[in-house]
Amino acid sequence: MREGSLEAPTRHPLDWKNPEFWDSARAEKELERIFDICHGCRRCVSLCTTFPTLFDLVDASPTMEVDGVKKEDYARVVDQCYLCDLCYMTKCPYVPPHPWNVDFPHVMLRAKAIKFEKGIRFRDRLLSSTDAMGKLAAIPVVAQTVNAVNGNAIARSAMQSVLGVHKDRELPPYAPHRFRSSFKKSPSFPVKPGKETPGKVAVFATCYANYNEPEIGHDLLALLAHNEIPYVLADDEVCCGMPKLELGDLQGVNLLKQKNIPILARHARDGYAILAPVPSCALMFKQELPLMYPNDADVLAVRDAMFDPFEYFVLRKKDKLLKSDFRQRLGKVAYHIPCHSRVQNMGQKTREMLESVPGTQLTVVERCSGHDGTWGVKREYFDNSMKIGRPVFRMMAEPEADYVSSDCPIAARHIVQGMGEERKQAVKAHPLALLRKAYGI
Ligand code: SF4
Ligand code: SF4
Repeated sequence: MREGSLEAPTRHPLDWKNPEFWDSARAEKELERIFDICHGCRRCVSLCTTFPTLFDLVDASPTMEVDGVKKEDYARVVDQCYLCDLCYMTKCPYVPPHPWNVDFPHVMLRAKAIKFEKGIRFRDRLLSSTDAMGKLAAIPVVAQTVNAVNGNAIARSAMQSVLGVHKDRELPPYAPHRFRSSFKKSPSFPVKPGKETPGKVAVFATCYANYNEPEIGHDLLALLAHNEIPYVLADDEVCCGMPKLELGDLQGVNLLKQKNIPILARHARDGYAILAPVPSCALMFKQELPLMYPNDADVLAVRDAMFDPFEYFVLRKKDKLLKSDFRQRLGKVAYHIPCHSRVQNMGQKTREMLESVPGTQLTVVERCSGHDGTWGVKREYFDNSMKIGRPVFRMMAEPEADYVSSDCPIAARHIVQGMGEERKQAVKAHPLALLRKAYGI
């Protein structure tokens, strides 16, 4: 048996419709098999707290092997994984087609799904219902109240005891006006398809841009309009399902998929590029749903039409259909590439675009910030999320930049919190805001 695979990695679909997937004993056996390979390898020890938790359990067991670890302790390993996919995509030499067939994130997801079926905490259901929470909290008066509560130390201590949301986690405020309700209609432009890019765009707003930071959506629209690309808003979207997937709520993902996919597939078949300005949401449509529904033609049509915004802009540039009339230098930018951008396997498109702006020096940090969607918010994981993020906070502070930026707006907030005083005068700005600034629009 050779050490690693020389073939390009392939990913097997998630076998969640097979009754064996839900069989606890079979799942435990698969966990033990993979844990044993990981124990012999230990390459991923620095990626997150999942692997150190496993190796500590092995080292403390009577046999000092995986067979000495109590089965009930497997959950301690599973709980530390926030499914960023980095171990699979960037480290593991034993992924398929290697016969050892190690898909660590998928075995974690299977264990989470089985746990979810047995019942989960109210807090976890609440945090993964981003759409329902957003709809409620983004009502103007409610938004102000929620934001005031989020900033109040006494209320936060109560929230920590009752809901398990860590009192020190800085939460994103809810915006008084949703992106979808303040959406500015596209000016009329002729559709100019390129070799690499469709000439018109459907915007999947995302819960985060819709309820928390509508400016991200408005920046995207301004960039499309400046480049004379006609756009529409995806009709009646709901959450992409990533927060539910991360919890193992596969039936919840299925319900959201049934609402989003027919709408988005219609846009895909009508020749639109679909742009989602949050990497996790784009990844959900590019990778996670196709792995759950490998034979669903609509899911595959959406996958093929889905772009990260900077991926689209760079390809548009290659098509010679993107303007380069930049009017403003950006200076020093400390830029973080989030895990869910890295695992889209599209290269460093945001970096490429921002570096094309004259008078811009980028310091690129390509390392997990440790937040994930809802994981780093929870009382029991907050400290670990700050610990995982520490090297990122330090590297982002080093250049004493003018801007601190990440494609993931949640990671950006977490990084800014972790940098604390070290941030000095640096302003947090999303890469879309920076590109808009560079155009002077
Ligand atoms: S998917 Fe991410 S969080 Fe989970 S074990 Fe792999 S690297 Fe760690
Ligand atoms: S996931 Fe792969 S690379 Fe990482 S520790 Fe396990 S076997 Fe090694």
